[in-house]
Amino acid sequence: MFDISGKVSVITGAGSGIGLAVAQRYRAAGAEVVLVDYSDAREQASTIGGYFMQADMSCEADVQRIMSDTDSRYGTIDILVLNAGIVGGDDGVEITQCSQESLKQVFEVNCFGVFYGIKHAAQYMKDGGSIIITASQAAIYTAPLTSEYTASKHAAVGLAKSASIELGPLGIRVNAVCPGYTSTPINANTGGITEIVNLTQQIGRVSETEDLVGLYHFLASSESYMMTGQALVVDGGKTAGMTKKFVSVYR
Ligand code: NAD
Repeated sequence: MFDISGKVSVITGAGSGIGLAVAQRYRAAGAEVVLVDYSDAREQASTIGGYFMQADMSCEADVQRIMSDTDSRYGTIDILVLNAGIVGGDDGVEITQCSQESLKQVFEVNCFGVFYGIKHAAQYMKDGGSIIITASQAAIYTAPLTSEYTASKHAAVGLAKSASIELGPLGIRVNAVCPGYTSTPINANTGGITEIVNLTQQIGRVSETEDLVGLYHFLASSESYMMTGQALVVDGGKTAGMTKKFVSVYR
């Protein structure tokens, strides 16, 4: 089931959080795993039996290099997880006060990095290849004070859809995963998440990375072959509608 043994996977932002959990899952399922991060993740790679490549996903030359080096080392790329992402320095700031610098920083990783990844990996992929983009619940249903991040994640879903159309005839699929709040370092400075999740999600707890990796495993496997151009939401049911707790305020 969900056989990916022997497949060659490249996972960006794999030094931490969701990317590291996906790398662990793919390795446990017998795939070759290239962990890409701009921080040093040699230790994480060695612990799980993967291979580390340092790269800044906002730098097109870096992205071109890691895809070419992966192909030289393993002979192909079967699975690409474009997961590296950031919140900008102006996260938590009103749109009227956001700086162009912060906006650019967020787009350069969350949107340009995804664009470069698809652009430079596709030539090494073949029929059965799977590209998975980590977008966010913010691509579907957003909150105040996150305009830069929200826009960048909508763009990431747009890239999944447009690339799925161009790469579909080659048998290469492109999908996006849209997680809700997940317990990782990216949220270290975001206060009140437990309370927000409790009030707004049908399943009122913060996700763990283990709640997500099964979907990444499925999307990487041939059992999802007919699925492409989709944004799959894993948000504890938040986007289904208002929670009973929320409605109890007036009913
Ligand atoms: P994380 O901070 O633990 O992991 C992000 C990783 O990306 C880090 O290892 C970081 O070094 C790396 N990275 C950042 N910029 C990079 C760059 N320019 N080049 C290469 N690597 C870079 O956070 P996470 O929660 O695991 O985030 C993974 C993805 O999930 C992100 O795209 C994030 O936007 C998305 N996401 C997270 C949540 C959540 O609540 N944690 C929810 C929805 C979406």
